[in-house]
Amino acid sequence: MSTEKHAEQFAPPEVDETGRRNLVGLSREELSQAMAEIGQPAFRARQLWHWIYHRGVTDFAGMSNLSKEFRAGLAEQFVVGRPSVSVDRQSVDGTRKWLLKFRDGQEVESVHIPEEDRGTLCVSSQVGCTLTCKFCHTGTQRLVRNLSAPEIVAQVMLARDHLGEWPSPKDGRLISNIVMMGMGEPLYNYDNVAKALKIVMDNEGIAISRRRITLSTAGVVPMIERCGAELGVMLAISLHAVTDELRDRIVPINRKYPIAELLNACRNYPGLNNARRITFEYVMLKDVNDSPADARALVRLLKGIPAKVNLIPFNPWPGAPFERSTPERIAAFSDIVFNAGYASPVRTPRGEDIMAACGQLKSASVKERRSARDAALRAAV
Ligand code: SAH
Repeated sequence: MSTEKHAEQFAPPEVDETGRRNLVGLSREELSQAMAEIGQPAFRARQLWHWIYHRGVTDFAGMSNLSKEFRAGLAEQFVVGRPSVSVDRQSVDGTRKWLLKFRDGQEVESVHIPEEDRGTLCVSSQVGCTLTCKFCHTGTQRLVRNLSAPEIVAQVMLARDHLGEWPSPKDGRLISNIVMMGMGEPLYNYDNVAKALKIVMDNEGIAISRRRITLSTAGVVPMIERCGAELGVMLAISLHAVTDELRDRIVPINRKYPIAELLNACRNYPGLNNARRITFEYVMLKDVNDSPADARALVRLLKGIPAKVNLIPFNPWPGAPFERSTPERIAAFSDIVFNAGYASPVRTPRGEDIMAACGQLKSASVKERRSARDAALRAAV
């Protein structure tokens, strides 16, 4: 399916059951436009932007530099929305996972991974996924729909609410980095992801810089260049295999965009240099892709690409048809890649006890027939 058709078929709903318009997720231009529609000057949009994205205020009553009447008027027509939280769990290692529920009842997960000198929020882009990668739990869940830009931005805002991180601090942030590595394939929902990330990167708001945002893709080749040119975020590629034969099997999108094409797109990624490398993610599957010969073939493939390799020990889930490689095997693989001149850290599994580790995310959301869903939404208005 083309990326356009995909976007159309899995579009998020536009109806708001409250009848009030959500201001979260509007671009600056759209926010100005919304103010113009109620006869307000453009600087109102700037004030609101500050309250919503810098201070994290969700109640208009708290926006103290706006007149009382204006605040009351805003509250009649608009909301500063958040999804509801179905589950909020914390791992023994401090990793925290939220299962969020949106207005139409669909759910996704976001995960916060605290580290000594930083904290990363792993954000979802879709409810479910179409890619069916064989080692991924989300891949066993069908794609329900794309997330809207507001739903993507709201994941960051909600995490900040829960971590008490408003107003946007300058340093020492609990959420210093964002990875688009949650549920879904971000480049199959490019428009909404791009709109959301532009809001997240805006300097007068949430203000997380493009260098601290990593978008991970299984390889939607036609969208890679645009992502680099328009967003300039860091790129991660879920490679996981060094031959088309194996990758066709475990990352089926490879049948459409084989390894050579994918690596070519990587070579041409805008803004690539030794300080801005592409991360290649490689899940370590016992006796499947973890031999020294695989490691050497990986090194050959990456030749000429400013790259680092992130080795991810396979995280098991119920019924998974793979096992994790042994620590010795992972270390030997890592050494070969490292000795060839590429950083090759082994990703420590985080949040395994709460099923929050890479590839373990899955929500109970299932795809309903679109007509039934639309009818339910209309009924709710
Ligand atoms: N669809 C995008 C975004 C998801 S990122 C992509 O594929 O890049 C999630 C990362 O975790 C991907 O690299 C994915 O391949 C990896 N992953 C999936 N299942 C895993 C598992 N069971 N164990 C370890 N890593 C896994």
